Amino acid sequence: VESPSSLILLFGATGDLAKRKLYPSLYNLYIKGQLSDRFAVVGVARRLKNDAELREWVKDSILTYGESENEKDINAFTSHFYYQSHDVTDSASYKQLKTLVDRLDKEYELGGNRIFYLAMSPEFFGTVAEHLKEDGLTDTNGFKRLVIEKPFGHDLQSAIKLNNQIRKAFDEDEIYRIDHYLGKEMVQNIEVIRFSNAIFEPLWNNRYISNIQITSSETLGVEERANYYDKSGAIRDMVQNHMMQMVTLLAMEPPIKLTTDEIRSEKVKVLRALRPVDKKNIHDYFVRGQYGKGQINGKEVVGYRQEMNVPEDSNTETYFAGKLLIDNFRWAGVPFYVRTGKRMAAKSTKIVIQFKDIPMNLYFKTGSNLKPNLLVIHIQPDEGITLHLNVKKAGQGIVTTPIKLKYSTKGVDGMNTPEAYEKLLYDCLRGDATNFTHWDEVALSWQFVDEISAVWENEPAVFPNYPAGSMGPKEADLLLEKDGFSWWSII
Ligand code: NAD
Repeated sequence: VESPSSLILLFGATGDLAKRKLYPSLYNLYIKGQLSDRFAVVGVARRLKNDAELREWVKDSILTYGESENEKDINAFTSHFYYQSHDVTDSASYKQLKTLVDRLDKEYELGGNRIFYLAMSPEFFGTVAEHLKEDGLTDTNGFKRLVIEKPFGHDLQSAIKLNNQIRKAFDEDEIYRIDHYLGKEMVQNIEVIRFSNAIFEPLWNNRYISNIQITSSETLGVEERANYYDKSGAIRDMVQNHMMQMVTLLAMEPPIKLTTDEIRSEKVKVLRALRPVDKKNIHDYFVRGQYGKGQINGKEVVGYRQEMNVPEDSNTETYFAGKLLIDNFRWAGVPFYVRTGKRMAAKSTKIVIQFKDIPMNLYFKTGSNLKPNLLVIHIQPDEGITLHLNVKKAGQGIVTTPIKLKYSTKGVDGMNTPEAYEKLLYDCLRGDATNFTHWDEVALSWQFVDEISAVWENEPAVFPNYPAGSMGPKEADLLLEKDGFSWWSII
């Protein structure tokens, strides 16, 4: 279905995100007929000179990161792009921008519909939003929407400040806070797996599930992002947003309807039920790590403190593991173990739901070692689910053997599922905010992680405590062993 006509005003048009994700995603929508022909994009940045340069830039992005090499289509697509050199702190620039936007609105018959996409350094988010209002860009007869990238604040306090700034110009339902994990095929599938299968939902509680494990591991180190990352660390970069979002989708009650408000309100309830961090016992629940030197795919790599732009005494965690408890009827007593880190042994995001053992093992005399039933949801790079069961080993006697039933989305359609950004852009164009984070979710997750950061930032850690290429520090294994569990291998 074609989305409504709209102008997209993209701040940060020459940035890494625009180049790798946004242009190829928009182009895919265009090719699939999901973008109205009446669309125009105004790219705002500093380093280019004119429309022609931006169009080249966009074309190059599609040829490099996209799936098409059809020059005719690409040229037709890029003809909708306009460039504005712009300093985001200068009012005069916004006035020029308004003139251009008003002109394109008429030329393309956009009906005043406007999407403002902030894909630039977060320090400017608030300033830009304020200027958009003050300088009249949000004065329009059509819809106006603000798409805002992560990070949304540095902690609760700064997030509140930012939120107040953007709320001056946009209502809550006009704000689309990006968490690109919510655009991923298998993250969106969590809800469907749970609520469309009679065999899961009745078991989806503390009577039948023993624990849930969420792992998001990277093999990359900090790369060129140290200036940002060293002030953020794994807890702000990954846990406050992506990991907590996955927890809410796994734990929420069935919404009464599949509407944005109903789904979001169920997710918020999960965050409200999270057991607050007890600062005194923080080490019993949370583990931090920082990588030292080691090997990734057989290649020597340096430790975090030796990376470019990282202070040599940095106390920043590149690894997080935690045990989250949700104090409600459904989940009382079921730990949600969450871990994420850089320079780990594999690049993988996976959720493992471990079911409780059956009451007794009838087969132990035959030497059978029953394995727990697991439902594994593969988020990336594999996409699909695996169900681990026990069956009879073929042949004489009654000996059990574990098997896996596997479903892979990539195999089924023989093509890649759409990029997260493609789905999220399409949702935003159609005004569907379900897969974006509501302010209440942002605030509650900051409140939770701030308690942990407050302790960690005032206690120097013994870093490095895991070698690059490993699955993290020993303490993360102990976290589960204390409870009689262990991490299911993701490799
Ligand atoms: P970047 O540094 O590559 O790009 C910044 C862009 O902002 C450039 O186009 C630059 O010209 C423009 N800009 C900077 N200062 C400006 C000013 N004063 N006036 C006008 N324009 C100015 O950043 P990025 O990696 O593309 O990230 C953009 C946003 O997206 C950030 O919030 C980031 O956290 C988020 N994000 C990025 C990625 C990614 O993969 N790069 C992933 C997730 C989220």
